Amino acid sequence: MTTNAALAIPAHLENNPLISFGRGIATYSQVKPEHIAPAIEFLLSQAELAVQHATNIATPSSWDALAEPLEDATETLGRSWSVISHLNSVADTPKLRAAYGEMLPKVTAFFSSLAQNLALYEKFKLLSHDPEFMHLNIAQKKVIENSLRDFRLGGAELPDAEKPRFAQIQDEQAVLGKAFSDHVLDATDGFIHLVSNEAELAGLPEDAIAAAADTAQQKNLQGWAFTLHFPSYYPVMQYAKNRSLRRLMYEAYVTRSSELAPKYGKGNLDWDNTQNMLDQLRLRDEEARMLGFANYAALSLAPKMANSVDEVDLFLSNFANKAKPFAEQDWQALCDFAKTELGLVDGLEPWDTPFASEQLKQARYAFSENELKQYFPLPKVLDGLFQVIQTLFSVKIEATDLPVWHTDVQSFSVNDANGKALAYFYLDPYARPGKRGGAWMDDARGRRVLPDGEIQVPVAYLVCNFAPPVKVDGVLREPTITHDDVITLFHESGHGLHHLLTQVTALGVSGINGVEWDAVELPSQFMENFCWEWEVLEKMTAHTQTGKPLPRGLFDKMLAAKNFQNGLATLRQIVMSLTDWRLHSSLDAKSAQGQAVLKVSRHIADEFNIIPQPELSRWINSFSHIFAGGYAAGYYSYKWAEVLSADAYSAFEEAAKLTGTVLDESTGARYRKEILEVGGSRSAAESFKAFRGREPSIDALLRHGGLA
Ligand SMILES: [Zn+2]
Repeated sequence: MTTNAALAIPAHLENNPLISFGRGIATYSQVKPEHIAPAIEFLLSQAELAVQHATNIATPSSWDALAEPLEDATETLGRSWSVISHLNSVADTPKLRAAYGEMLPKVTAFFSSLAQNLALYEKFKLLSHDPEFMHLNIAQKKVIENSLRDFRLGGAELPDAEKPRFAQIQDEQAVLGKAFSDHVLDATDGFIHLVSNEAELAGLPEDAIAAAADTAQQKNLQGWAFTLHFPSYYPVMQYAKNRSLRRLMYEAYVTRSSELAPKYGKGNLDWDNTQNMLDQLRLRDEEARMLGFANYAALSLAPKMANSVDEVDLFLSNFANKAKPFAEQDWQALCDFAKTELGLVDGLEPWDTPFASEQLKQARYAFSENELKQYFPLPKVLDGLFQVIQTLFSVKIEATDLPVWHTDVQSFSVNDANGKALAYFYLDPYARPGKRGGAWMDDARGRRVLPDGEIQVPVAYLVCNFAPPVKVDGVLREPTITHDDVITLFHESGHGLHHLLTQVTALGVSGINGVEWDAVELPSQFMENFCWEWEVLEKMTAHTQTGKPLPRGLFDKMLAAKNFQNGLATLRQIVMSLTDWRLHSSLDAKSAQGQAVLKVSRHIADEFNIIPQPELSRWINSFSHIFAGGYAAGYYSYKWAEVLSADAYSAFEEAAKLTGTVLDESTGARYRKEILEVGGSRSAAESFKAFRGREPSIDALLRHGGLA
């Protein structure tokens, strides 16, 4: 590592694409694995110099001399690092993964040492007691207060003798989290099932068959190839009449990254996450106890909106009790239907449930997801989404040409009424090999005032895993997505808006930064509601063949079907949330071994769910949210934030009663001002109250979900 104190970029790094983009946008396609180590080593050394300067006795404890230069240096490091971790998520190669993995412990160690730097902590304490503090703006004050809290949570007040162990825990957690995620990706990529007899595909929609043929062709195979990537896997579960095909795919899917994978999924024991989960839980528990908390759940609440471990447990179990009678009705109806209509007289096996559910849904509501999908060409959907955003928040979204990492990726600018760019975002829509599954929004750059007084506008990544457009007879079909995909897109765009429309200029609390974890899903889940409004759908749909919008009759059926099995779905989410919560609050992590994690999940499923957890299922072994995605002791926040988002949306429903439209501009302007623009500069409870004029209520969510 260089010890050169000069801030200038050394000649050998001038053309390094992880350095040369400065404050601009990285040219992703030029980033090579060999650029990573030199760039990150250099930026780490620069960040360390900035820390030394900040802690120097001669440096005044003021915002300009202390907080800002430090923010600047860590942002520069953070931005380069985020380019690498983004590429690791969307364009994984063995070399990139290795280069990323090599630097990960060093980057983690730097941020961990920052949080434990006592001299820095003292400087920030001085700043918080300085008369200048009173004159800082609300956002700046919040940054300082959050910093002090994070210093404490980062171990700054630990005795010196305990600090090395604390730092070691952070490093080990980072490495284990990455290994967990790699194992799941490898297990997902490592499975392929080839069907050579067309008769075995009975029931599958044409699109799914075409995609499977495409996959086979790409791998130089004859026939139809199915993988464990969700767009390939799930249509089999939903539509394939072939019970043994469903069973085979199901068994491979739910045993990913477990000790059963070699038996059911052609998997490798190296990808087994059983021990990894125990190790992570043990480290988290140790970390919490070192900081004086009873368990990791209690520690995780320190920067959250919920107040206590019991409050969350009670919130979830009360919710489960409200949903349970509805779930019992759902399950009974499904079992009766499977027996009488599908001839499954011996009861439903786990691999029958999605299939039977789809059949029941069709019988009851007479439409299939696949029929519906023809009304949602992606460009039309995007246009509809943009219309909603533009109407509600008085902005204009335009295509632009930022550098991309794959030809599928599009970029856009969000402009104000005068055409000035407020923000930019990327959309990476389709699933592909080497791209992590699921959908997410990530921060590529945050809004802030730069040292020269200029405003740096935010940039976001919206990443989805929609089924890619398929070639039929050599012709590329127009890409269509399911209504569930539409909801996913709206969801991620909600996170995006939170990040992009912020007006805060202090980076630490601008956009999604500094927002309490359990409130972070408010703006995303809020946006989902528009996917159920006729006035939105009518304009957002065009049948791939006829170009006609969604028929009103079909929409009415969708609406009737919307809460189909919502009792069961709600219980499923609550079982996942409580499993996460109790793994981090009541499992004795120190002595836990073997299948202890699985046992907790079983126990909770037995207590709360109607459907027993299948003996075979190792779903917890691929529960990346809590073992690789930052949702540890935080999965409950989806339900928690749903209460907030449904209640916020009900303000638009109330407005619609007066104005005739949920796309009510004045309510939208208020929402933008009180929720989106303030970001993390004040507590979510205050922001909610400022928008809604009262405390949150669960009523709107129960009403929307047919659970009232
Ligand atoms: Zn989300």
